[in-house]
Amino acid sequence: MHAHYGHVHVLRGISLEVPDGDVVALLGANGAGKSTTLKTISGIVRASHGKITFDGEDITRLDPSAIVRRGIVHCPEGRQVFPNLTVRENLALGTYARGRAGQVDRVIQIFPALRDRFSQFAGTLSGGEQQMLAIGRSLMAEPRLLMLDEPSLGLAPIIVEHIFNVIAGFRDQKISVLLVEQNATLALEFAERAYALSHGAVYFSKSAVELRDSDLVQRAYLG
Ligand code: ATP
Repeated sequence: MHAHYGHVHVLRGISLEVPDGDVVALLGANGAGKSTTLKTISGIVRASHGKITFDGEDITRLDPSAIVRRGIVHCPEGRQVFPNLTVRENLALGTYARGRAGQVDRVIQIFPALRDRFSQFAGTLSGGEQQMLAIGRSLMAEPRLLMLDEPSLGLAPIIVEHIFNVIAGFRDQKISVLLVEQNATLALEFAERAYALSHGAVYFSKSAVELRDSDLVQRAYLG
Protein backbone atom coordinates (compact mmCIF):
# COMPACT_ATOMS: atom_id res chain seq x y z
CA MET A 1 0.00 0.00 0.00
CA HIS A 2 0.92 3.62 -0.55
CA ALA A 3 -0.18 6.64 1.49
CA HIS A 4 0.29 10.38 1.20
CA TYR A 5 -0.08 13.31 3.54
CA GLY A 6 -0.93 16.04 1.01
CA HIS A 7 1.81 15.81 -1.60
CA VAL A 8 4.20 13.95 0.69
CA HIS A 9 4.51 10.30 -0.26
CA VAL A 10 4.85 8.66 3.18
CA LEU A 11 4.19 4.95 2.56
CA ARG A 12 5.98 4.01 -0.61
CA GLY A 13 4.69 0.53 -1.43
CA ILE A 14 4.54 -1.48 1.80
CA SER A 15 3.60 -5.18 1.65
CA LEU A 16 2.99 -7.04 4.84
CA GLU A 17 0.96 -9.93 6.13
CA VAL A 18 -0.35 -10.85 9.57
CA PRO A 19 -1.10 -14.59 9.70
CA ASP A 20 -4.05 -15.72 11.81
CA GLY A 21 -3.20 -15.80 15.52
CA ASP A 22 0.33 -14.42 15.13
CA VAL A 23 1.99 -11.42 16.73
CA VAL A 24 3.77 -9.43 14.02
CA ALA A 25 6.07 -6.59 15.05
CA LEU A 26 6.54 -3.42 13.04
CA LEU A 27 9.90 -1.84 13.81
CA GLY A 28 11.80 1.17 12.54
CA ALA A 29 13.17 4.58 13.42
CA ASN A 30 11.04 7.65 14.19
CA GLY A 31 9.19 8.81 11.11
CA ALA A 32 9.65 5.51 9.25
CA GLY A 33 5.88 5.23 8.70
CA LYS A 34 4.80 2.72 11.38
CA SER A 35 1.87 4.69 12.78
CA THR A 36 0.81 5.67 9.27
CA THR A 37 0.74 1.97 8.35
CA LEU A 38 -1.69 1.25 11.20
CA LYS A 39 -3.79 4.31 10.37
CA THR A 40 -4.00 3.26 6.72
CA ILE A 41 -5.11 -0.27 7.62
CA SER A 42 -7.78 1.14 9.94
CA GLY A 43 -9.00 3.56 7.26
CA ILE A 44 -8.14 6.78 9.13
CA VAL A 45 -5.62 7.56 6.41
CA ARG A 46 -6.73 6.61 2.87
CA ALA A 47 -4.41 4.34 0.92
CA SER A 48 -3.53 6.33 -2.20
CA HIS A 49 -2.64 3.17 -4.09
CA GLY A 50 -2.56 -0.57 -3.44
CA LYS A 51 -4.86 -3.01 -1.72
CA ILE A 52 -5.60 -4.08 1.86
CA THR A 53 -7.38 -7.39 2.37
CA PHE A 54 -8.74 -9.00 5.52
CA ASP A 55 -9.86 -12.61 5.39
CA GLY A 56 -9.80 -12.36 1.62
CA GLU A 57 -12.07 -9.30 1.52
CA ASP A 58 -10.84 -6.08 -0.05
CA ILE A 59 -11.26 -3.46 2.71
CA THR A 60 -9.18 -0.70 1.08
CA ARG A 61 -12.11 1.68 0.50
CA LEU A 62 -14.19 0.89 3.59
CA ASP A 63 -14.70 3.60 6.17
CA PRO A 64 -13.11 3.18 9.62
CA SER A 65 -16.30 2.03 11.38
CA ALA A 66 -16.88 -0.68 8.75
CA ILE A 67 -13.29 -1.80 9.26
CA VAL A 68 -13.84 -2.04 13.04
CA ARG A 69 -17.03 -4.03 12.40
CA ARG A 70 -14.90 -6.62 10.61
CA GLY A 71 -12.79 -6.99 13.75
CA ILE A 72 -9.78 -4.78 13.05
CA VAL A 73 -9.26 -2.62 16.13
CA HIS A 74 -6.64 0.11 16.49
CA CYS A 75 -5.19 0.98 19.91
CA PRO A 76 -3.47 4.28 19.12
CA GLU A 77 -0.17 5.72 20.25
CA GLY A 78 -0.43 7.74 23.46
CA ARG A 79 -3.47 5.76 24.74
CA GLN A 80 -6.01 8.42 23.67
CA VAL A 81 -8.44 7.64 26.46
CA PHE A 82 -11.25 10.16 27.01
CA PRO A 83 -9.94 11.99 30.11
CA ASN A 84 -13.27 13.44 31.24
CA LEU A 85 -15.12 10.14 31.02
CA THR A 86 -14.91 7.43 33.64
CA VAL A 87 -13.17 4.10 33.16
CA ARG A 88 -16.59 2.48 32.77
CA GLU A 89 -17.62 4.98 30.08
CA ASN A 90 -14.33 4.60 28.20
CA LEU A 91 -14.81 0.83 28.14
CA ALA A 92 -18.41 1.18 27.00
CA LEU A 93 -17.27 3.34 24.06
CA GLY A 94 -15.15 0.41 22.89
CA THR A 95 -18.37 -1.31 21.81
CA TYR A 96 -19.56 1.64 19.69
CA ALA A 97 -19.06 -0.15 16.35
CA ARG A 98 -18.65 -3.75 17.47
CA GLY A 99 -18.58 -5.90 20.59
CA ARG A 100 -20.81 -6.40 23.62
CA ALA A 101 -21.12 -4.64 26.98
CA GLY A 102 -20.76 -8.06 28.65
CA GLN A 103 -17.14 -8.15 27.54
CA VAL A 104 -16.34 -5.88 30.48
CA ASP A 105 -16.02 -8.87 32.83
CA ARG A 106 -13.36 -10.37 30.60
CA VAL A 107 -11.46 -7.06 30.44
CA ILE A 108 -11.51 -6.78 34.24
CA GLN A 109 -10.21 -10.33 34.51
CA ILE A 110 -7.30 -9.40 32.22
CA PHE A 111 -6.64 -6.05 33.94
CA PRO A 112 -7.85 -6.42 37.55
CA ALA A 113 -6.32 -3.01 38.39
CA LEU A 114 -9.19 -1.37 36.49
CA ARG A 115 -11.83 -2.88 38.78
CA ASP A 116 -11.24 -0.39 41.61
CA ARG A 117 -11.08 2.52 39.20
CA PHE A 118 -14.40 1.99 37.48
CA SER A 119 -15.95 5.33 38.45
CA GLN A 120 -12.72 7.32 38.25
CA PHE A 121 -12.14 9.80 35.41
CA ALA A 122 -9.67 8.30 32.95
CA GLY A 123 -7.58 11.49 32.97
CA THR A 124 -6.71 10.88 36.62
CA LEU A 125 -5.30 7.37 36.03
CA SER A 126 -1.57 6.65 35.98
CA GLY A 127 0.09 6.13 32.59
CA GLY A 128 0.11 2.36 33.11
CA GLU A 129 -3.56 2.29 34.06
CA GLN A 130 -4.40 4.43 31.03
CA GLN A 131 -2.58 1.96 28.78
CA MET A 132 -4.50 -0.92 30.34
CA LEU A 133 -7.71 1.03 29.79
CA ALA A 134 -6.81 1.74 26.15
CA ILE A 135 -6.12 -1.95 25.50
CA GLY A 136 -9.20 -2.90 27.52
CA ARG A 137 -11.34 -0.54 25.44
CA SER A 138 -9.97 -2.22 22.28
CA LEU A 139 -10.80 -5.65 23.69
CA MET A 140 -14.41 -4.55 24.28
CA ALA A 141 -14.76 -4.56 20.48
CA GLU A 142 -13.77 -8.24 20.35
CA PRO A 143 -10.91 -7.73 17.92
CA ARG A 144 -9.79 -10.38 15.49
CA LEU A 145 -6.80 -8.23 14.57
CA LEU A 146 -5.58 -5.85 17.26
CA MET A 147 -3.17 -3.12 16.16
CA LEU A 148 -1.18 -1.75 19.08
CA ASP A 149 0.86 1.43 18.62
CA GLU A 150 3.72 1.71 21.15
CA PRO A 151 2.02 0.07 24.15
CA SER A 152 5.21 0.27 26.27
CA LEU A 153 5.89 3.97 25.74
CA GLY A 154 6.80 5.76 28.97
CA LEU A 155 5.74 2.94 31.28
CA ALA A 156 7.52 1.36 34.25
CA PRO A 157 9.18 -2.00 33.45
CA ILE A 158 6.81 -3.97 35.69
CA ILE A 159 3.75 -2.58 33.85
CA VAL A 160 5.40 -3.26 30.48
CA GLU A 161 5.97 -6.87 31.53
CA HIS A 162 2.32 -7.22 32.56
CA ILE A 163 1.06 -5.71 29.30
CA PHE A 164 3.30 -7.90 27.16
CA ASN A 165 2.21 -11.03 29.02
CA VAL A 166 -1.35 -10.03 28.24
CA ILE A 167 -0.40 -9.61 24.56
CA ALA A 168 1.22 -13.06 24.58
CA GLY A 169 -2.09 -14.49 25.82
CA PHE A 170 -4.01 -13.10 22.82
CA ARG A 171 -2.76 -16.04 20.73
CA ASP A 172 -4.94 -18.43 22.76
CA GLN A 173 -7.93 -16.13 22.24
CA LYS A 174 -7.41 -16.17 18.46
CA ILE A 175 -6.55 -12.48 18.37
CA SER A 176 -3.87 -11.62 15.83
CA VAL A 177 -1.65 -8.67 16.70
CA LEU A 178 0.18 -6.06 14.65
CA LEU A 179 2.50 -4.40 17.13
CA VAL A 180 4.41 -1.15 16.66
CA GLU A 181 7.13 -1.09 19.27
CA GLN A 182 10.24 1.05 19.74
CA ASN A 183 11.76 -1.55 22.06
CA ALA A 184 12.78 -4.05 19.38
CA THR A 185 14.31 -6.55 21.81
CA LEU A 186 11.05 -6.70 23.74
CA ALA A 187 8.95 -6.98 20.57
CA LEU A 188 11.09 -9.84 19.25
CA GLU A 189 10.55 -11.79 22.47
CA PHE A 190 6.82 -11.92 21.78
CA ALA A 191 6.46 -11.75 18.00
CA GLU A 192 6.66 -14.53 15.45
CA ARG A 193 7.80 -12.17 12.75
CA ALA A 194 9.01 -8.61 12.33
CA TYR A 195 8.98 -6.09 9.55
CA ALA A 196 11.30 -3.11 9.72
CA LEU A 197 10.27 0.04 7.93
CA SER A 198 12.68 2.64 6.70
CA HIS A 199 11.56 5.82 4.93
CA GLY A 200 8.13 4.38 4.17
CA ALA A 201 9.31 1.07 2.69
CA VAL A 202 9.97 -2.39 4.08
CA TYR A 203 13.66 -2.63 4.89
CA PHE A 204 13.40 -6.30 5.87
CA SER A 205 10.90 -8.93 6.96
CA LYS A 206 12.18 -11.87 8.95
CA SER A 207 11.17 -14.34 11.62
CA ALA A 208 11.88 -13.17 15.17
CA VAL A 209 14.18 -16.17 15.68
CA GLU A 210 16.38 -15.08 12.76
CA LEU A 211 16.52 -11.51 14.08
CA ARG A 212 17.38 -12.15 17.71
CA ASP A 213 21.04 -12.78 16.94
CA SER A 214 21.55 -10.42 14.05
CA ASP A 215 22.55 -6.78 13.73
CA LEU A 216 19.85 -6.11 11.12
CA VAL A 217 17.58 -4.43 13.64
CA GLN A 218 20.24 -1.90 14.66
CA ARG A 219 20.87 -1.16 11.01
CA ALA A 220 17.15 -0.55 10.41
CA TYR A 221 17.13 2.05 13.21
CA LEU A 222 20.27 3.74 12.04
CA GLY A 223 18.78 4.06 8.55
P1 ATP B 1 7.15 7.58 15.33
O1 ATP B 1 7.76 6.41 15.97
O2 ATP B 1 7.97 8.83 15.50
O3 ATP B 1 5.69 7.77 15.63
P2 ATP B 1 6.43 6.43 12.77
O4 ATP B 1 7.30 5.41 12.15
O5 ATP B 1 5.18 5.96 13.42
O6 ATP B 1 7.29 7.31 13.75
P3 ATP B 1 4.69 8.12 11.21
O7 ATP B 1 4.03 8.76 12.39
O8 ATP B 1 3.92 7.11 10.45
O9 ATP B 1 6.08 7.49 11.63
O10 ATP B 1 5.17 9.28 10.24
C1 ATP B 1 5.73 9.02 8.95
C2 ATP B 1 6.05 10.36 8.26
O11 ATP B 1 4.83 11.03 7.99
C3 ATP B 1 6.88 11.30 9.12
O12 ATP B 1 7.80 11.94 8.26
C4 ATP B 1 5.88 12.27 9.68
O13 ATP B 1 6.45 13.53 9.89
C5 ATP B 1 4.83 12.33 8.58
N1 ATP B 1 3.49 12.57 9.13
C6 ATP B 1 2.85 11.86 10.07
N2 ATP B 1 1.60 12.34 10.29
C7 ATP B 1 1.45 13.39 9.46
C8 ATP B 1 0.38 14.32 9.20
N3 ATP B 1 -0.79 14.23 9.85
N4 ATP B 1 0.60 15.29 8.27
C9 ATP B 1 1.78 15.38 7.61
N5 ATP B 1 2.82 14.53 7.78
C10 ATP B 1 2.67 13.56 8.69
